[in-house]
Amino acid sequence: MSERLADHTTTRVGGPARRWVSARSEAAAVEAVRAADAAGEPLFVLGGGSNTLMADAGFEGTVVHMAFDGLEVLGEGETDPEMAEPDATDRGGDAVVVRVAAGHRWDDAVAWTVEHGLAGIEALSGIPGSAGATPVQNVGAYGADVSQVLVSLRAWDRQAPGGGAVVELSADELRFGYRDSIIKRSMVDSGAPSPRWIVLSIDLRLRRAASGAEPTAPVRYAQLAKALGVEEGSQAGLRTVREQVLALRASKGMVSDGEDHDTWSTGSYFTNPIVPASVRARLPEGAPAFAAGTAPDGTELVKLSAAWLIDHAGYGRGFGLPEVAPREGGPDGRGPDGTGLAGGRASLSTKHTLAVTNRGGASTEDVLTIARAVRDGVRERFGVELHHEPMIIGTRL
Ligand SMILES: Cc1cc2nc3c(=O)[nH]c(=O)nc-3n(C[C@H](O)[C@H](O)[C@H](O)COP(=O)(O)OP(=O)(O)OC[C@H]3O[C@@H](n4cnc5c(N)ncnc54)[C@H](O)[C@@H]3O)c2cc1C
Repeated sequence: MSERLADHTTTRVGGPARRWVSARSEAAAVEAVRAADAAGEPLFVLGGGSNTLMADAGFEGTVVHMAFDGLEVLGEGETDPEMAEPDATDRGGDAVVVRVAAGHRWDDAVAWTVEHGLAGIEALSGIPGSAGATPVQNVGAYGADVSQVLVSLRAWDRQAPGGGAVVELSADELRFGYRDSIIKRSMVDSGAPSPRWIVLSIDLRLRRAASGAEPTAPVRYAQLAKALGVEEGSQAGLRTVREQVLALRASKGMVSDGEDHDTWSTGSYFTNPIVPASVRARLPEGAPAFAAGTAPDGTELVKLSAAWLIDHAGYGRGFGLPEVAPREGGPDGRGPDGTGLAGGRASLSTKHTLAVTNRGGASTEDVLTIARAVRDGVRERFGVELHHEPMIIGTRL
């Protein structure tokens, strides 16, 4: 029997793969991708399934599961002149380049770096999924994102002459943006289910504390600084940062936990919308907005809070769950304000309005039903379009 995506994704939805390859080495992954491409077979590359929503009908092609791990220190002691300038708040110490295999569990890599006193990715603790997927949408949290430390990556370029080749792409070539990179664009812009570049390993530039000094990192996020009891921009111990980030994330249902349906999700379902500053002026007072640069035509841009918009459009935590006592006249606890939508099988998380969750027994369509209601409601209330963060394959929002 073919593998079901529901058994390999954090939302636990998605139909079967026609063909499933568990690639236990880089060579096996390349071979499987090459064979699928040579046969003209649709391809989907799966890491930890924490940013994937696959159609209930499944995937009519080959799914290559990146099931190989590995982590090695490539270089230590010297600052490579090719690398980005050290963070202004760094306190010296040596640059260390660590190579992580695509299938390596990301949070295991973070834990390893913290354990070894290497600063750079501690604020990205607790993000589920594989290392190879982190550059795809430039994962980020608590004031950090992977573009700040990624030097380069190795990838299988499916469009290289002769049916593909291993290439190295620098951080500049990846054109990172907010939850964006050329790898993601190669799927989104073409509508293809998998990218042009299949990431094989990533190289991260981390920093070892000066000899004898406590390994610390700058705290770049107000909520995290508050929880740590330090000023934003000041330093805190690596282990303390990791522990606090994990605690904050757990309180929001943002650490995968099989027992907790609030984490049966893809994390944040919607990205924070980046809009012209004039849009902000139309929103109620108190709507958070952060400067987000300028558009190519010079228009000033701001980043809005998707969570705020969702909440203030009337979609609170748990939206979509049946009421405890069904409303009079409403079947299955379904009321006029969306209670019981999708039969209560899917809902917004009860801890955070940004996550669309499977309460058990949900289908992909159930999850999308909730997401559509929220997206349409925000558009109607505020005239702002929310964009989905997970990759949706074989169906649409
Ligand atoms: C509880 C929870 C919390 C989360 N919190 C955050 C957060 O704080 N910040 C954040 O940015 N994200 C967050 N996410 C989203 C998700 O964890 C990240 O996007 C993660 O990097 C996805 O990794 P994955 O291996 O699970 O990707 P998958 O879901 O397996 O794949 C995602 C996409 O990347 C492609 N892909 C996967 N591996 C490769 C590869 N090796 N080469 C090329 N393409 C590949 C897939 O084809 C697919 O299009 C969260 C998710 C959950 C469930």
